[in-house]
Amino acid sequence: MDLEGRVSLVTGGSRGIGRACCFALAAEGSEIAVNYNANQAAADKTVSELSALGIKARAFKADVSDEAQTHIMIEQIMSEFGHIDVVVNNAGITRDRSFLKMTVDQWRSVLMVNLDGPFNITSALLPQMCERKWGRIINISSIVAQMGNFGQSNYAVAKGGLIAFTKTLAREVAKKGVTVNAVAPGFIETDMTAVVSEEALDMVRKMTPMGRLGRPEEVARAVRFLAAPDASFITGQVLNVNGGMYM
Ligand code: NAD
Repeated sequence: MDLEGRVSLVTGGSRGIGRACCFALAAEGSEIAVNYNANQAAADKTVSELSALGIKARAFKADVSDEAQTHIMIEQIMSEFGHIDVVVNNAGITRDRSFLKMTVDQWRSVLMVNLDGPFNITSALLPQMCERKWGRIINISSIVAQMGNFGQSNYAVAKGGLIAFTKTLAREVAKKGVTVNAVAPGFIETDMTAVVSEEALDMVRKMTPMGRLGRPEEVARAVRFLAAPDASFITGQVLNVNGGMYM
């Protein structure tokens, strides 16, 4: 139980990789704040399953792309839990289109959720992490930041920005006891990839040395490692969880 007494916030924690992160961090004894944007039923289900395991967990609604909502949510979590020690900036969306056809709305909405979201969350909770001289910031990037991907210029830019943010913030807060790392998943079986055509997924399998997509739990284990004391001297890194697709 490496995270006993710690409080973890997972954005977009009601399903997919975020939900798996909630359970992986809870398995180490962390209390869990589950952020969700729209699907309260899914967030409540995650919370009640965590509570059934004896873990203190609560759901908090906020659109991470909205600075005011995000700051109100952080205040609510602080008054409920007292502190936030681990944050997993996981909430993300795709709005895929080849660049020639991409609208400015598609470009901006992806940047607002996937890049401004982590800015809003991190800037709201970083001061108390620095004050308490302990913190773990884990940003969920993507293999697409490293390889590019047809139809995902907006997403690649946001996820690449997140890696640049990770490295820069890691340098700024290293002496304050806060580590900042990114996890870059390959293609993982979630609602996000459920909309991808079977033909494209077959191509992904062929390009992946392990010959399959990953599972949310496999990403969550990397997050748990980076959150735990075992990762105390690791900061500014990108941990790839991709079945060997990008090395
Ligand atoms: P998902 O669509 O199941 O989960 C995304 C979560 O983010 C959902 O719970 C959604 O409600 C939440 N969310 C979206 N917009 C939000 C907002 N404005 N405010 C708060 N929450 C919001 O997909 P997933 O695969 O679990 O994705 C989780 C993260 O992993 C994302 O950042 C995604 O980009 C990244 N990722 C996924 C894959 C993959 O293959 N599935 C690969 C690489 C990276």
